[in-house]
Parts: sequence; structure tokens; C-alpha cells
Amino acid sequence: MKLAYQYKAHPTKEQQTELYRQFNVHADIYNKALETLNKSDEWISHYQMNNKLPKWKRGEHPDFKTIHSKSAQETVGRIYRAIKGLSSQKQKNRKVGKLRYKNTVNSIEYNQSGFTVHDDYIELSKIGDIPITKHRPVGGNDIKSVIIKQTRTSEWFISVIVSVDETEEIPIEDIHSDDVVGIDVNVSNLFADTEGNKLESLYKFLKPELERVKKEHRNLSCKEYGSNNYYKQKKKLAKAYSNLVNKRDDLLHKLSKWYVEKYDVIALEDVDSKELSEQSNGLGKYIRSQAWSRFAEFVNYKASQVGVHVVSVDPAYTSQDCSNRECSNRVKKSLSEREHSCSECGLELDRDVNAARNILRKGLEKIGQGLAELTPVETGTSCDAVSLSSVAEAGSLDA
Ligand SMILES: [Zn+2]
Repeated sequence: MKLAYQYKAHPTKEQQTELYRQFNVHADIYNKALETLNKSDEWISHYQMNNKLPKWKRGEHPDFKTIHSKSAQETVGRIYRAIKGLSSQKQKNRKVGKLRYKNTVNSIEYNQSGFTVHDDYIELSKIGDIPITKHRPVGGNDIKSVIIKQTRTSEWFISVIVSVDETEEIPIEDIHSDDVVGIDVNVSNLFADTEGNKLESLYKFLKPELERVKKEHRNLSCKEYGSNNYYKQKKKLAKAYSNLVNKRDDLLHKLSKWYVEKYDVIALEDVDSKELSEQSNGLGKYIRSQAWSRFAEFVNYKASQVGVHVVSVDPAYTSQDCSNRECSNRVKKSLSEREHSCSECGLELDRDVNAARNILRKGLEKIGQGLAELTPVETGTSCDAVSLSSVAEAGSLDA
């Protein structure tokens, strides 16, 4: 399994200029390879296309020499991954357009070589030593690749992709119905599970740290830009932010460990495709939406080491469908409705627990039909939630 560790990067002005230049060269490589492929009567494989790169360097594109050769091959690889993606979409009868030429790119990938990861900077061949904020260490020694990118908001990030060993998964036939759990992520609390456990409020838990970040941010805006005090204050803000992220990650480590030790199958929503923007309050929302993907990352990582199944499911309709298996009623509800109340079968359940049960059902269907019967069918109500954050604070969940 591959895991990505993402760090904030701080390239110097000169390095940024060089990165933008290289982004353009990568776009030229992409376009050259795409054009070659489009003009050819015969299929050219990724391997064959890579072999054309040295010829282009010697001939009409000497600037291709100015970038790391493996990263050039990765850029060529994007075309082949995109084609693969398009053809699988075609099989699903979706309309697909042709690949477009690029004006520029916003990331460069170093695969296998051309990089060295240090404590507070990452060395990239043909670019230099780029400072990073390393809020946590890279887990595992087997680093596969490093990607530097700039987001639309002009922030720089470096992702370190690591391969981790997986233990063989627990055989499906050995899994008991008590040892499966579904977890729903939502806006009111960070998550709720099939047994009614909830993290009541991540926002409340992190409030002191959030307030601190906001305060240091306000103070920064009072300082004269570029002054000594400005830089001092900037450091204070960075410290406050890392305190916030550390406290959040510490909690998520404890919670993910608790779930992985307690269950054999954990069904989670594929959070990338779930819209969590209904409730917005700036930083708090940002921390929360990040928290969920971080939690999923921790669960996946810990589970892979002990053979626990983690299934990611499509979140569509999980909060509306009735989780009673005998009933397929879809109960539309607004965000403010906290209860699932089914007019067909009479099931009354906490809204988030109902969603968690649907997630578990979908997850079990995904790993093997035989397990579908493991889905709990009792229609009891379990609105009394245990606060997982209080469990974590009490220290019974050691990281
Ligand atoms: Zn129902």
C-alpha cells in the first residue's frame, strides 16, 4: 500500500522562478509526447515514448535537458494514465473528450531518484534544497516518489509517497458480526459509527488552539510588513498552528488505533466525493475537512499492518436511505433534522447512526456478498452517544 505524507514547502523566490520555468518545460514535454502519439498511425507505449526523450533532447528540444530525466518520464506517464482513465469512463458509457494540450503544469514528480528527504528540507535534483514544515515524520523507509506542487491558492506543498508492508487480510469467513463497523463523517460532529459512538465536536475539542491561531493571525496584521516584529509574530503564528495540528493528529491517532484494535472490518466513506461544505466557518471548517481525510489515512495505515479490512464506499444517499435491510425507503431530510424516522418500516434512529449503518452495509457488500447478512438488522434506537473525545482525553486510548 502507498501512503502520502504532505508537507508545506517554502521555496525561495529564485527556486519559485525555476519551478515555474520547469513547469513550462514539463508542459512542452507533455505536449510533444501527446502530439507524437496523435500523429502516429501505430500505438506508442509509455516505454517507447520514454525512449524518445533523449532524441528530443539532442535535437529540437535542448531545454528538456534542464530537468531531471525521471521527472520527464513521469510527465509522459500522465498522458498514459489519462488515457487509461478515459477508456474506463468510456466503458461506463460516459462522454469523454480528447486529451487537451497544456499551457503549463502545476506539479513535478520525482520517481525513485532525484530527491533526498531531510529533517527540514527536501533536496530536489535540478532545483535545490527546498525548506519544508515537517509536522510529523515520514512513516516507513521505502520512499517511492516525491511530488512538488503549487495549489490554486499559490501555496506550495511537497508530498512524499511511501510504500508500506501489508499483512495478509483476516479471512472473510473468520469475521464475526460483532467485529464490523461503519463510520459516517458529517458536519455536526466529526463522525458517528454504527454502534452510536460519536466524536461530539472536534471544533469544541480544538477551540482553545483555534482561538490562539486566530489571535496570532490578528496580531500579525497589526505589524509592519517586513519588520522584525512582523517576523517574530509570524513565528508565533506558525507555532500556534502547529500546536493545533498536533493536538488534532494526536486525537486522530488514538481514535484510529482504537478502531483498528476493536474491529476486523471498518467501512468508511470515500470522503473525496462527499461534499462537506454545508457548514462553513473558515479555519474550523478547514481543520475538520482535513481531519477526516487524515483519520482515513491513519486507519488505512494502521489496518494494513494487522490485516484489518478497510472498505471505502460511495457516500451517495447514505444519510437518506433507511438502514433497515428489509426496507429500501429513501427518507429525504434537511441538515437540521437529526433523526431518521422511516414512515415505511417505523425505524427511528439517530441520523448519523443510520448513515453509518448504510455505509457498513455497502462496505460489506463490497468485500463479499456472503457478509451482507452480517449487517445488523435490529431496529433499536441508539441515540445515546458515547463521546469518543472524552474517551481519548481520559487517556484510555494510548497512541
Ligand atoms: Zn424503513
